[in-house]
Amino acid sequence: MSLDTTAPEVAFAVNIVRKSAQMAQRVLSGMALINLTKSDFSPVTVSDFALQAITSKALLETFPNEPLVAEEVSDELRRNAGVLDAVLQFVRKELPDATEDDVCGWIDRGAGDPAPRCWVMDPIDGTKGYLRGGQYAVALALLQDGQVQMGVFGCPNLGEGCVPDSCGVGMLVVAVRGQGAWQTLLQDENAPFDPMRVSDCADPAAARLLRSVEAGHTNVSQIDRLVEAMSISAEPVIMDSMAKYAVLGAGNGDLLVRLLSDRQPDYREKIWDQAAGSIIVEEAGGRITDLSGKGLDFSQGRTLARNRGILATNGALHDAALETLAKVGAA
Ligand code: AMP
Ligand code: MG
Repeated sequence: MSLDTTAPEVAFAVNIVRKSAQMAQRVLSGMALINLTKSDFSPVTVSDFALQAITSKALLETFPNEPLVAEEVSDELRRNAGVLDAVLQFVRKELPDATEDDVCGWIDRGAGDPAPRCWVMDPIDGTKGYLRGGQYAVALALLQDGQVQMGVFGCPNLGEGCVPDSCGVGMLVVAVRGQGAWQTLLQDENAPFDPMRVSDCADPAAARLLRSVEAGHTNVSQIDRLVEAMSISAEPVIMDSMAKYAVLGAGNGDLLVRLLSDRQPDYREKIWDQAAGSIIVEEAGGRITDLSGKGLDFSQGRTLARNRGILATNGALHDAALETLAKVGAA
């Protein structure tokens, strides 16, 4: 299997994600981060808005007829002049002539529903990880007729080989349907793309569970029941963000569940949180479904409305995990 990095979509996505992830990291060490609280109480930073604006503008120039579906919208930004100005200053480092209206317009190109062919972006997944120097990911994916065709992650704090070090050199991951999943160094454009392969761990006792730092996005007691029922005794890998999918794809973890928290039992996964990661897992040889084993349906708008939660594994552990999820009442 080989990756065609000269295909226009791949070249565009690799380039813009690399640039975005590098900018996100630079901003952390330079500009003061101003946060405003979104209505769902997640912190959103200047970087989230700025990176979405810059990517949206780049997409408009490169593929003018292909819409964007992305996490952020500008209404709260427009109500907060201080944050809007900080976002504008960030964007102007890349696009010196940008105005406030340009920036908000570019951001809001991402506010619509998916088209048959469209791009899907999470400018910074794991904002809390980003703010505290943990793991985070810039994620971009390409959807075609409800199927993910390509996914790219920029993970500035992952170590070489997608190891979740606390001070990693940064990794870029790209998966293309039928062409495999590949990893390279984020900071070196000339570094080779190396193939990614999930682990071959088939023994639940030895399975490394990828867990979130934040308890609010999941059901911790149900995860504990799953660990006990599967007799998992290996140390978990605890980290923020969907960079977990890159770690799973590289064989540095074996399974990952996104259970529904008691506080939001009707939560449906957002497509920008799952599109790029799902193809990375699949093309690395793993399996990803919802908690009942149903394939992820990306044809239902901005959420995975027909799926409940997520199970992603190296494949070998999938059926055992599904069985146990049903047993502990999580499916
Ligand atoms: P983690 O770092 O594993 O906690 O995952 C962060 C991701 O969880 C972000 O992409 C959020 O969009 C997503 N998220 C936010 N609220 C929820 C929720 N109630 N259930 C599941 N995921 C959520
Ligand atoms: Mg996210």
